[in-house]
Amino acid sequence: MSPQFRKILPGSAIGVLGSGQLGRMFAIAARRMGYRVHTLSPESGTPTGQVADVEITTSYQDLDAVRRFARGVSAVTFEFENVPAITAQAAAEFAPVRPDGMVLHTTQNRLREKSFLASHGLPVTPFTRIRNLQDLEAGLKELGCPAVLKTAGYGYDGKGQIKITSPDQAAPALASVPEQELVLEAFVDFQCEVSVIGARGLDGSFANWGVIENSHRNHILDVSVAPAAVDERVARQAVEITRTVLEELDVIGLLCVEFFLTRTGGLLINELAPRPHNSGHLTFDACVTSQFEQQLRAVCGLPLGSTEMLRPAAMANLLGSLWQDGEPNWGAACAFPDVKLHLYGKLAPKPGRKMGHLTALAGSAEKASQQVRQARAALVHAP
Ligand code: AMP
Repeated sequence: MSPQFRKILPGSAIGVLGSGQLGRMFAIAARRMGYRVHTLSPESGTPTGQVADVEITTSYQDLDAVRRFARGVSAVTFEFENVPAITAQAAAEFAPVRPDGMVLHTTQNRLREKSFLASHGLPVTPFTRIRNLQDLEAGLKELGCPAVLKTAGYGYDGKGQIKITSPDQAAPALASVPEQELVLEAFVDFQCEVSVIGARGLDGSFANWGVIENSHRNHILDVSVAPAAVDERVARQAVEITRTVLEELDVIGLLCVEFFLTRTGGLLINELAPRPHNSGHLTFDACVTSQFEQQLRAVCGLPLGSTEMLRPAAMANLLGSLWQDGEPNWGAACAFPDVKLHLYGKLAPKPGRKMGHLTALAGSAEKASQQVRQARAALVHAP
């Protein structure tokens, strides 16, 4: 059998590019199944490094180190999609990189990603490329106001984006964003935001956890609830779109599709993330196979596991601002017997930084959502 299709079995080492919480939870799932985990990123003492077998601290541009790293593992995956393309290429000389560098290349730039989606007939938020003020003025005429101006590369959690509410804001808006390729999007007056995380195995098999409903605060995911309260037609359509994206991009691994559900019941893709996703953290406690174990199975060429949800669930992010009056009251959250606490081992609780999350399991999605919010509120009550 060609090495590309050989199953990578427990005892093998898996390399993770990136070292945040997604890599940490991947490493926990992988070590539980007897794999070794090596991580490479520019930082040390990282959330992933704390639970990995090997932590390599170097720049992603240090290609000799990347090659050595890849030589020491059976496959490479990533938890951070803004790894430079040359890094993925260097790693691929010595180990399969899953998903591969082309998936990274397409999804790490909003223009490439949106053009790919539109060219495959997939529903995407109306957009146009912006190179200068004339483009922006023309774009605002075409898409109308409000609209959102975003950097094409390296943006996440609302970073590098600005809402424009009238055409006279074009020049100041352009001056306020970093000087790089830009994209202008129509502002979508959505009823809610939802996501579907898809997994695709080496044999082309597909799995997903259904539709998850997401609410954001200051552009950062705040609470996710599953199953989402959307009608069956919308759920079926969202899953089919996700399957198409994974197949067309030939993803081996995980990919999350973030959608806007419009007020008229239509789905528009906001963005893609070719890795486990914050909205899927609840699968760790609520599903037979978590998104992290599934990533491992896909990357290793193993059969995908069941995504069955054992109980409805909700997840609430714990951001650095929770620490503003000192250490949160962990005991109070643990007093909720159906709430699970996850902390990522980050030492500096900056506002907006994802430090951990809570997951609540309940008899209904609505109850889970109430519980997780109550548990999070209890963290900031006096001990
Ligand atoms: P992004 O980094 O592009 O995922 O944006 C972060 C969040 O900003 C999204 O989850 C939405 O809540 C909001 N947002 C981004 N783009 C748009 C848009 N075109 N219309 C409405 N809201 C948006």
